[in-house]
Amino acid sequence: MKNALVTGGSRGIGRAVCIKLAASGNHIIINYRSNDAEAEKTAELVKEAGGTAELLKFDVADKAAIQTVLGTWIENNKDKPIEILVNNAGIRKDNLMLMMPDSDWEDVLHTNLDSFFYITKLALPSMMFKKFGRIVNVVSLSGVKGMAGQVNYSASKAAVIGATKALAQEVARRGVTVNCVAPGFIKTDMTDDINEGQFQQVIPMKRFGEADEVAEVVAFLASKASSYITGEVINVNGGLHT
Ligand code: NAP
Repeated sequence: MKNALVTGGSRGIGRAVCIKLAASGNHIIINYRSNDAEAEKTAELVKEAGGTAELLKFDVADKAAIQTVLGTWIENNKDKPIEILVNNAGIRKDNLMLMMPDSDWEDVLHTNLDSFFYITKLALPSMMFKKFGRIVNVVSLSGVKGMAGQVNYSASKAAVIGATKALAQEVARRGVTVNCVAPGFIKTDMTDDINEGQFQQVIPMKRFGEADEVAEVVAFLASKASSYITGEVINVNGGLHT
């Protein structure tokens, strides 16, 4: 049984990933920011899937909280280190750049990009020591192609793609893989305010995706079966590439 940390595991894609990784026999560490009830519900669903779970509540945008909460967890669990890390927690705060408050730029970059750096830096040493690790970063179509109204979000996701490709080369010799999954439009709370009908014309599959359809790919990249894939970005977008 491997320890798998999933950030933003309380809802949406993160929850689906927790359940999928539990079904493959992993112990799931569910991170979330504030939604205790939804996090508990994910833990229940993990147990229903035959797995075990624990909650680890901290704000991924807060460097000090990462150091304190995750740092302490790692210190207290030296005998069972994190072998799978899914950097999934993310937010969007859309606006045209000319109208974008500095705080929306900063919030999105702290949550979506800085979290990758500080969390991965803590989880990496034991992976390097054990010569096994799977790091999967949930990015976005927006970071691959750029989307108007999402300069902050596109920048954060594109930066994580660049960091993934660089880190993959640094750690490959130690059996640690680093990959991205880039969803298109997926039905979660994040896309609640987006009208599916309006986008159906441009999506070749004529529908939004399900969180499960993303989780399936994350679980593959987190498994031993993906051993020769690293520095890769797998798009899960119903054919919406441009
Ligand atoms: P969601 O339904 O809004 O869920 C977001 C999750 O992230 C929740 O579990 C939330 O925790 C957690 N979270 C947010 N900010 C956090 C913070 N500062 N610290 C800790 N946890 C935090 O989002 P989603 O649609 O599942 O998105 C998951 C990932 O997929 C994100 O990185 C997003 O950018 C990416 N993505 C989504 C889509 C899409 O169409 N949905 C498309 C492309 C990429 P709480 O429950 O405590 O708030």
